Amino acid sequence: MEAGRRSWTKPVQSLKPTKTVSVDEDLTKASDALPLPLHLSNAVFFTLFFSAVYFLLSHWREKIRTSTPLSVVTFSEIIAILAFVASFIYLLGFFGIDFVQSLILRPQTEVWNSEDDDEVADVLLRKKDARKVPCGQALDCSLPPLPPPAPIVTVQKVLDENPVTVLTEEDEEIIKSVVAGTTPSYSLESKLGDCKRAAAIRREALQRLTGKSLEGLPLDGFDYESILGQCCEMPVGYVQIPVGIAGPLLINGREYSVPMATTEGCLVASTNRGCKAIHLSGGATSTLLRDGMTRAPVVRFGTAKRAADLKLYLEDPDNFDTLAVVFNRSSRFGRLQGIKCAIAGKNLYLRFTCTTGDAMGMNMVSKGVQNVLDFLQTDFPDMDVMGISGNFCSDKKPAAVNWIEGRGKSVVCEAIIKGDVVRKVLKTTVESLVELNMLKNLTGSAMAGALGGFNAHASNIVTAVYIATGQDPAQNVESSHCITMMEAVNDGKDLHISVTMPSIEVGTVGGGTQLASQSACLNLLGVKGASKESAGANSRMLAAVVAGAVLAGELSLMSALAAGQLVKSHMKYNRSNKDVSKASS
Ligand code: ADP
Repeated sequence: MEAGRRSWTKPVQSLKPTKTVSVDEDLTKASDALPLPLHLSNAVFFTLFFSAVYFLLSHWREKIRTSTPLSVVTFSEIIAILAFVASFIYLLGFFGIDFVQSLILRPQTEVWNSEDDDEVADVLLRKKDARKVPCGQALDCSLPPLPPPAPIVTVQKVLDENPVTVLTEEDEEIIKSVVAGTTPSYSLESKLGDCKRAAAIRREALQRLTGKSLEGLPLDGFDYESILGQCCEMPVGYVQIPVGIAGPLLINGREYSVPMATTEGCLVASTNRGCKAIHLSGGATSTLLRDGMTRAPVVRFGTAKRAADLKLYLEDPDNFDTLAVVFNRSSRFGRLQGIKCAIAGKNLYLRFTCTTGDAMGMNMVSKGVQNVLDFLQTDFPDMDVMGISGNFCSDKKPAAVNWIEGRGKSVVCEAIIKGDVVRKVLKTTVESLVELNMLKNLTGSAMAGALGGFNAHASNIVTAVYIATGQDPAQNVESSHCITMMEAVNDGKDLHISVTMPSIEVGTVGGGTQLASQSACLNLLGVKGASKESAGANSRMLAAVVAGAVLAGELSLMSALAAGQLVKSHMKYNRSNKDVSKASS
């Protein structure tokens, strides 16, 4: 990481035309194994070689002049031939090996993680990461130690971690042309066929154009190929966000370590405390209520009557099967569930809902919708498609339709927190929590005219988990819709807490989920990629984890508020002692 941070791109004037330079390049050569000092052995064999050649050539010339057959060889000539052959073999061997070695070594320096290196790194990682099980509480401490656990199969592929990007003279020319505007910055990837080099050149051009340094924004240590055409255009580096772990979170009898990418102090610690309270109380139960991604195009007719005709046609159960067949052609996983229509004069909004397997599903549902619109054009030729998205979907905007109808996964997650745990772990009482929940999350939000915001800080947890696991963070808007309920149960001794979240939009395939870091976080949760058992099981499990983590977050923050700890803990974890005025430019 340090190397990466130090290695921001610099124009280097007297550079050899290499793209990457190894910081610890192994310069050992085969010639180092020779017993004599290199210069001595070379001098001896060179002298021998040229003396033998000179001797033989002058003798053969003499023979030709005196018409003596070349096959008549004297003793001194035999010695000279032997000397020639010996020195030739030495020189060929020496320079030949050196030359071949230099050819072989060069590509190796550009391949950063040989399998051996991976193994060494793996061992080091495991050594560092080995967590010791506390012995004090274990019942079987006196038993002989168990054999070491099977090694965790962690293939850590850190692409490009060490190479430090330096720019060549050729790159310098391209930078100048980007700065001059003759080469468009966006075309660098396609022109160069090397995404990292394109990013380095764009970055340098940007620094020159703006006169602002990007030092601190790392360039090296990221696989720019992996985002091409899918995740981010015109990259100049990447932002680092620390990932903390809350957990284990016990949901439906299974433990999860929840990765949270955040820069807000307290957030992970607080969620972790909530996880602990849930765990000590026997875990949470999460139930999926609905699973369907939506897309709502807007179409326009000449009259409101014609718009109504289409509404009636789409909502007629007799037409559903035909429409489903047309819609489902788009994907193996997209399955039409229903169409809900809303009219505004001559304009009709058609809200399609479909299952999307393990994908979050925006692309999938859009393709299905396009199929249906094309199909409808035959029976409704006067239909004008104004936009494939007419905001009745509704994506990345607060909207009652998502709060009421749901979007993505609708989940309810609950737990009964024991009174003891509320007192000892959460440092408050059941009564205070119930009262505060009523005043803050229900009445307070109603007073504020909240839309889906009947909670303390669901979006904090949703966003942190979304960034860690490669979800679309902009969808935190509707994914954070949540109503938190609290009630005293078991004669007022214990606390029943629940979060109801109608619009959790998550996927475990597609988008940012396939990037190395995000995919590692999904792997940690056991929901990486497409589910092998049943399509959609991974993304549904991820939605359950999101809801469970929100439950933990709500429990902990509400407790801190009820106990009056909030300001104190934020001052401790969320404020550093650094002089922030120094950070400003
Ligand atoms: P989104 O619709 O969330 O934007 P993408 O269209 O980018 O997602 O990615 C979904 C792709 O992944 C589709 O091409 C789909 O065929 C493929 N895929 C493979 N396995 C699955 C699965 N189990 N569930 C959903 N999609 C899957």
